[in-house]
Formats: sequence, structure tokens, C-alpha cells
Amino acid sequence: MSGRVSHPIVDTTRGDGRVACLTFDDGPDPTDTPRLLDVLRRHRVSAVFCLVGDQVDAHPEIVRRIVADGHTLGNHSMHHDDMGNWTPERIAADLRETDAAIRRAVPDARIGYFRAPYGSWGQSPAVAASLGLRSLGWRLAITDWEPPGTDELVRRLLDGVTPGAVVLLHDGGGDRSQTVDAVDRVIPLLRADHWRFTLPERPR
Ligand SMILES: [Zn+2]
Repeated sequence: MSGRVSHPIVDTTRGDGRVACLTFDDGPDPTDTPRLLDVLRRHRVSAVFCLVGDQVDAHPEIVRRIVADGHTLGNHSMHHDDMGNWTPERIAADLRETDAAIRRAVPDARIGYFRAPYGSWGQSPAVAASLGLRSLGWRLAITDWEPPGTDELVRRLLDGVTPGAVVLLHDGGGDRSQTVDAVDRVIPLLRADHWRFTLPERPR
């Protein structure tokens, strides 16, 4: 390679106007992810699941359901390590290992995106691009990991969403029942206000 190559981090949706994309990190979780999938199915919303390899290995059947339900997959690293100071070689090894874990669960899985744990990107966007993964950031994070209560999560979503925003949420890494409940409530509220749900800008 020669010269500087830009590897932008996508944080916007495809489509214009009142569109938003829901993304869920740190799963699959054996309790909250199936509940979330039920909610998304009932509301007919497609989302992005940024999966952690260790969780994929522990719960491959949930990954199969995520794919069967038509959602989009992202690579969220093998062990949820902070890669901010890692060499490109170390990052590449981790991302390949994570893709392999996902494909042990779903052999023909399409993995379009990569999201760095903690948003600590370091050199990962270029590495992800070399592996065919588009780096996926976010415009809105509501710190659902606190967790502050379902009412507060709903308020943060309604107040914070902006046209074209990729929204960061979590279905793993702890008790995410409030997140699932908030998503269940906020989808019809936003739809009543003429919002639609879509996916991020397309992987290249
Ligand atoms: Zn994460």
C-alpha cells in the first residue's frame, strides 16, 4: 500500500430523514438476547448484533437464531479486550479468530461490520477493512450498562435520537433486561412519530 488510506468509522444509517439503526453489543446472552429477538420480531425491526467470540462459542444456537431472524452480524472481538495499543498483527489474529467462531456457529455467516470494544479503535479500522469488515461506530449511546431504569432508558432514546443515527445498545455483558424493555417500548413510540428502522451504511 502507498499513501494514506482512510478507513472511516461508519456511524450513520442508509436512508434519509427519520431513520435510526439499533445495534446491540456484547452478546449473545442466554437470557436477554432471546427476549430481545422476540421483541424485534414482534415489532418487525432488523438490527445489528456485534458479537463477542467467547459468547458465540458458549451460545452458538442463539447466533443461529439471530441469523435466522434476518439480523446483521458484527465482529466485536474474541474476548472483549481493549485493542487500543495492539499491533495490526495482533488485531488481525483476534478478528480472524472471532470470525471463525461465528462461522463455527453459522458456517455461511455474512459478517459485515467490526466494532472495537470500548470504542478503543487504535489501528483496528485499517485491519478490519483488510479483512472485509466495515468499522461501525455510533451517534447515540445511552449508557444502558449502568443501568438507570427502563423509564430513563426510554427517555434517553427519545431525547437523543437524531436522523440517521446508529444507536449503541447492549444485549450482553450483564443484566440487560432494562434495555430489552426499553426497546420494546420505544419502537412503537418512535414509529408513531414517523421514525423508521434501518441498517448502517452498507459495507463496501
Ligand atoms: Zn462491547
